[in-house]
Amino acid sequence: MRKYVIMGVQGSGKGTQSALLAKDLDLVHISVGDIFRWNVQKHTKLGAQVRRTMNAGNLVSDDLVEAVVRDRLGMHDWNFGFIIDGFPRNARQAEFFMESYDIDGVINLEMPDDEVRRRVLSRRLCPRCGMDYNLIADRPEEEGRCDICGTPLVVRDDDTPEALAARLRDYHEQTRPVLELFRRKEYVYDIDARPAQDEVQQQIRKALNLPS
Ligand code: AMP
Repeated sequence: MRKYVIMGVQGSGKGTQSALLAKDLDLVHISVGDIFRWNVQKHTKLGAQVRRTMNAGNLVSDDLVEAVVRDRLGMHDWNFGFIIDGFPRNARQAEFFMESYDIDGVINLEMPDDEVRRRVLSRRLCPRCGMDYNLIADRPEEEGRCDICGTPLVVRDDDTPEALAARLRDYHEQTRPVLELFRRKEYVYDIDARPAQDEVQQQIRKALNLPS
């Protein structure tokens, strides 16, 4: 059983790297942001509660986040383990998490803010199947359309310059201290997130002592 946390500012490739690792190791990939986005899209009660906060790039309240994480992990469908992405994002969430679960490693994807801005502002999403694209590194074959289902691509509501600035601020003020907390427990593996996807994945596997 493997339990990993993946951290890094938005646009550092957390989603992509988690998905690659999860697929090969049979881990359940849990993205708190994806759970919220699904709820917003499906117009659930939770979606209505978080939509405005998310679109402004601000953090959702700890109570809601903890309930979502507790429910998701409570499904116990993670026989081989899980990789959780986008959580914990502040000290309180980290404490809640460490009280309930032991962690095998924290993957820290490092990327300078300038590069984050460049990448995030060129990010596109398929609203139908959830596939991510990037106009710099990972363009769709046909401009503006999803390679898988052909749906027109959209910009995530929270990928505006203003929302990104708020997310970067929260990351530096609230999420970085969490990393220091984990660092003291010697859980953290620092990974340079700037190279190509495959290379970053190889770096992660090497750090975690996993087969490449
Ligand atoms: P992400 O996809 O991880 O960038 O998350 C998208 C948005 O969901 C964030 O900007 C927050 O509004 C919300 N969110 C996701 N995870 C958390 C968390 N751990 N704590 C608070 N808000 C979160």
